[in-house]
Amino acid sequence: MEAQANRRSLREHAYAMKKHHAMRLHYDLRLEWNGVLLSWPLPEGPSCRAGAMRKAIEMQDHSRANLLFEGVHETGPIMLWDRGTWEPQMESDDIQSALCKGILQFMLYGEKLKGGWTLARINGTGNAYRPLWTLSKQADSFAESRGGKCILEERPNSVSTGETMSEIVRDWTSPRNKDERQTGLFDKIS
Ligand code: MN
Repeated sequence: MEAQANRRSLREHAYAMKKHHAMRLHYDLRLEWNGVLLSWPLPEGPSCRAGAMRKAIEMQDHSRANLLFEGVHETGPIMLWDRGTWEPQMESDDIQSALCKGILQFMLYGEKLKGGWTLARINGTGNAYRPLWTLSKQADSFAESRGGKCILEERPNSVSTGETMSEIVRDWTSPRNKDERQTGLFDKIS
């Protein structure tokens, strides 16, 4: 049992999904691997319906220090919408080669998003400045049924504080919370 738990903890890496109100509201998938955060903005967010493909744009890696950041960034307010861990499925056990091949199959153990997911690159690596991928939910017990409400609408708020985006902005800019904010920031960096 313990050996199994250890094996799993070795395979698991940190995961976060941000909600980012930049010029356009979008979501940002962050998968920690090899000391950095692999990053894919999702213009429409994830879909939990099995097979529904959502556009995911490959971006440069982000620093791990940003994983749990929530607050007002120069590009706009950022909410920590989901967090947890991820691990590659058997087919993608060699993560580096899965990324090179352009198909990464993985499990999410988030507080909101769970089960099997697939990232698949849809255009060539040679010409695109920002390679385009799709993110889709695999068919399993965590996929949403057709009649079910979308999780983006059902659980729209911060996974860490329960706050809405405007509450995050209010707390960030409100002077009475300035000390709290400084401490929070310090904690995240250290
Ligand atoms: Mn973003």
